[in-house]
Amino acid sequence: MGETAQRSDAGKPGTVESVAPSQVAEGAALESEDDKAWQKILAALRETVQAEQYETWFRRSAVVRCDDKDLVLAVQNSFSRDWMRNYYLSALESAARSALGSPRRVLIEVDPERVLAAAPPPAAEVAATAPPSPNGGPGRAAPAAPGPRRIGALGTDRLVQGSDIGLNPKYTFDNFVVGPCNRFAHAAAMGTAESPGKAYNPLFLHGNVGLGKTHLLQSTCHAMLETWEDLRILFLSCETFVNHFIGALENGDIQKFRNKYRNVDVLVVDDIHLLANKERTQEEFFHTFNTLYNAGKQIILSSDSPPKEIPTLQERLVSRFKWGLVTEMVTPCYETRMAILKRKSRARGQELPDDVARLLAERIDTNIRELEGATTKLLGYASLSGEPITPELAREALDDVFTVRRGEPTMEEILSVITAHYNVKVTDLQSRKRTNAVAYPRQIAMYLARSITRHSLEEIGGYFGGRDHSTVLYAVDKIKRLCAEDERCREVVGGLLDDLRAPSR
Ligand code: ADP
Ligand code: MG
Repeated sequence: MGETAQRSDAGKPGTVESVAPSQVAEGAALESEDDKAWQKILAALRETVQAEQYETWFRRSAVVRCDDKDLVLAVQNSFSRDWMRNYYLSALESAARSALGSPRRVLIEVDPERVLAAAPPPAAEVAATAPPSPNGGPGRAAPAAPGPRRIGALGTDRLVQGSDIGLNPKYTFDNFVVGPCNRFAHAAAMGTAESPGKAYNPLFLHGNVGLGKTHLLQSTCHAMLETWEDLRILFLSCETFVNHFIGALENGDIQKFRNKYRNVDVLVVDDIHLLANKERTQEEFFHTFNTLYNAGKQIILSSDSPPKEIPTLQERLVSRFKWGLVTEMVTPCYETRMAILKRKSRARGQELPDDVARLLAERIDTNIRELEGATTKLLGYASLSGEPITPELAREALDDVFTVRRGEPTMEEILSVITAHYNVKVTDLQSRKRTNAVAYPRQIAMYLARSITRHSLEEIGGYFGGRDHSTVLYAVDKIKRLCAEDERCREVVGGLLDDLRAPSR
């Protein structure tokens, strides 16, 4: 940032005032050239970036400078900067290349004043470009009215009264390790914090336990509180919502309950799957949802399964949950687990040596909470015993964790047993190839994964080249049937299962 900060000072209005009139004219002319170049780049971006993304990120950026070498942009805050650097740098570079005929290095800096001075389009105009909402209410991008103002200061104590105990200060975007397993959810959460009520509404995150849903939800709240003034956020677990509702019914103050839930700018409900089998609460939540949504207020939900798989969830709620963005968080890959281990141990004052981190990342592969718990336990064990942290010490300290794990093979182990038995390559299993020599081992692998791991159908599909859950379901059913009908198949599958469960693994 240092390199661009200087240049941005040179471009601020205050600096221009102090130079000679001829230079002002020249500066103004240059500025308009920059603007023209930026308009051309924006036009190119509109071709490649989805309309909603474009509205959210590019319309509210301003050009600082565009010369032969660099394109320097200003954005409103660090979320936008990080977001654009992470997700749109190459789109910006190719748009600049195609619009200007030669490549530019793209630099992005935070300068809210410049963005405001560049007069972003009025909210009404933005809303008009949004698709109509399915219920005939305001468009999906309808701004919360009256729009909250941005601030720069921390304000995490400003949750609406009645929220769950408050936010965990550690659950921030900064402390969240991003990997392929959660990249999209993370990006969507940042986008929501940046444009509450506009970008993704509702935002629906789902995934198994311990994969960071609550962390992301709270990061979004922190970010919104840091960014927006007077934003009223109600953060609560679904259980609290249910209890409040039941209490209100019992006490006959349902109106008070409604006033409270329907007068916020952002409603965040963690673990919404707990609405399963609670018909009256679902009914109430449906009306709360509608009121907030129609007023352009942001709704953020997390769940352990996608909307359609929440048992007994009313169809009208399922469909509403899908209006905005539904995104899954899956089990982190090995590299992400390593990065999380390093980050968590560093935060506790002692980074794990590589060989120890590798051991933990290999053995604990389904749940980040367990990974974190193991790190804490190991560090505590090492400091009490005064011994250096080695793989041996880790095995000793985490014996119980590892023993439990022995019962559940990893996907990598399943793949390696299958590739050895059928003499196929992992890349074949993950490819689109459908010849029997590849498809059959793939189906057996899916069946094994479903039988002996806790992975969801979607997650298993993910390991096999991003196949969807119905493909996995088909494979599981087919192998189940074959095993019932054919002794040879039963034997092979039994042998593979024995290999996977052997304690020598
Ligand atoms: P969930 O709500 O999905 O059950 P949590 O958000 O409670 O999971 O996460 C469990 C623990 O793992 C928390 O301590 C959280 O900080 C940590 N965690 C999860 N994902 C990440 C991540 N990507 N980076 C850092 N920590 C994470
Ligand atoms: Mg949670």
